[in-house]
Amino acid sequence: MNASREDTDPGRDDATPPNFIKELVEQDVAAGVRGGQVVTRFPPEPNGYLHIGHAKSICLNFGTAELGAPGRCNLRFDDTNPSTEDTSYVEAIQRDVRWLGFDWGARALYASDYFEQLYAWAIQLIEAGKAYVDSQSEEEIREGRGNFYKPGVESPHRGRSVEENLDLFARMRAGEFKDGEHVLRAKIDMQSKDVKLRDPLMYRIRHVAHHRTGDAWPIYPMYDWAHGQSDAIEGVTHSLCTLEFQNHRPLYDWFLGALGLDPRPRQIEFARLNLGFMVMSKRKLLQLVQQGHVSGWDDPRMPTLAGMRRRGFTPEAIRSFCERIGVAKRDGVVDISLLEHELREDLNARSPRAMAVLRPLKVVIENYPEDQEDWFDVPVHPEYPERGTRRVPLTRELYVERDDYMEDPPRKWFRLGPGREVRLRGACLITCREAVRRENGELVELRCTWDPASRGGAAPDGRKVKGTLHWVSARHAVDAEVRLYDRLFSVENPLAHDDRPFTDFLNPDSLEVLRGCKLEPGLKDATPGEPQQFERLGYFCADSVDSRADALVFNRTIALRDSWAKLAKKLGVGGAAKSGGKRKG
Ligand code: ATP
Ligand code: MG
Repeated sequence: MNASREDTDPGRDDATPPNFIKELVEQDVAAGVRGGQVVTRFPPEPNGYLHIGHAKSICLNFGTAELGAPGRCNLRFDDTNPSTEDTSYVEAIQRDVRWLGFDWGARALYASDYFEQLYAWAIQLIEAGKAYVDSQSEEEIREGRGNFYKPGVESPHRGRSVEENLDLFARMRAGEFKDGEHVLRAKIDMQSKDVKLRDPLMYRIRHVAHHRTGDAWPIYPMYDWAHGQSDAIEGVTHSLCTLEFQNHRPLYDWFLGALGLDPRPRQIEFARLNLGFMVMSKRKLLQLVQQGHVSGWDDPRMPTLAGMRRRGFTPEAIRSFCERIGVAKRDGVVDISLLEHELREDLNARSPRAMAVLRPLKVVIENYPEDQEDWFDVPVHPEYPERGTRRVPLTRELYVERDDYMEDPPRKWFRLGPGREVRLRGACLITCREAVRRENGELVELRCTWDPASRGGAAPDGRKVKGTLHWVSARHAVDAEVRLYDRLFSVENPLAHDDRPFTDFLNPDSLEVLRGCKLEPGLKDATPGEPQQFERLGYFCADSVDSRADALVFNRTIALRDSWAKLAKKLGVGGAAKSGGKRKG
């Protein structure tokens, strides 16, 4: 299923979503096509980092290969455009595919490995009278190709002899000409209804160093010339492409046919993944990086796999999201809540619990002796007792969340307020006696009392205490910076506005940095990237780039679903709606 906004139901748990490619390939395997083997490839261009859209393609290609007997998926870099490509991208892409959980076998492949073969094939086409050197400018060539309404015009060089073409092409390769002086074109049909078949370019002169071949080549193959042949060289049986390549297929077929390559890869097109409130083109993402709108490709707000990893997404969550959205031929926008649902499911199961107070409010327990200290055993995970307990200390002075106190609370407020009794998770019951304020009204601290008979958190006489708060002992707390993230763009489709650059629609509040947050002591040793649930708040992880033992930095991966915010909205109580209340993970 391609989940468009209407038919996305994150709660649903029914059968596997449709994947028409899986069905087609299964039929091929059952019919013994290509001996039942399946070879696919994931073909990134190393001109940027991989994003969540690529994850769909990766999961699809590696998943489809598993249907074969045997099956294999190649990682092939489509590195035909040296001016935008870089080794650092090659490395990042390999890191990300591996992180996502896939293995491409002995070594990564490169279209540049095939430059020599592609060159030989080009000569073969010239010799067969199926390619020629054109010496018009790229502008003239574009003009001459016309468009759907305007017929093509043949180049004055179209009639060059084979000998002349061979000579010119050899000299192009030898570096005798400047950029743009000549190109090699396929000789197909300038009158074709299909503009792509109007003598497409095969080679351009580019005196640019390549990240792998260095200065060996002053000419570079066009993507359309390289792609189908690279598939054929690798014995790819099923070439899975996004929809924009559907109208390239006749051209790919023409090339393969003209070279007599057989068997040909079966090309199948599928819809790209689009997510709302995000842009997903590498060029646009590069612009965000270069213009400093984000801290880098791995900024936790980016839809890149590196950014998502740093933020605390797990490969498992991304893979089940890709499974859930299915594979269809129709373009659509997937609701981000589907991804968030998969993420919460996965994080809930794996994350140990901890307590952290993001916006601290001091609580003094007046009847708790200054020098007393009680350590409580609290479950690491409430649903998995076998994961054991952790120890948290209670002392006279604590921190609770500022939002957990309200002077004049509405109905259904089960947290702190004048005279209200609440439970400190895993520790005891406290009652709020007084709010101490400065002259300007600013809240300084709460004076409370505890019920020493409520150790462990149970009410001694069975009285009802509904609210349970997270808290941290002031003396034991470790300080941290916590970074909260919101969507990077404030409109659903930042690219839909012709008159304004997409960067106009960046959400100015996409990053909120909180300093002086108070964490339970055990979090001091948190491994960067390892998910934690901060109780009642969400899932967090220590930042793998900026967090240090003496200056902890945590990222919020995602908040818990906030049922109080929903209720507050319904009841029309504004201020407290931002956080708090009873939440489910
Ligand atoms: P971008 O527009 O982000 O630069 P691209 O298609 O130019 O994407 P490639 O490096 O060529 O990037 O992509 C490698 C593979 O990933 C291709 O097969 C492409 O079709 C696929 N892919 C790219 N974006 C998406 C997407 N949003 N959804 C699904 N597959 C995608
Ligand atoms: Mg591309």
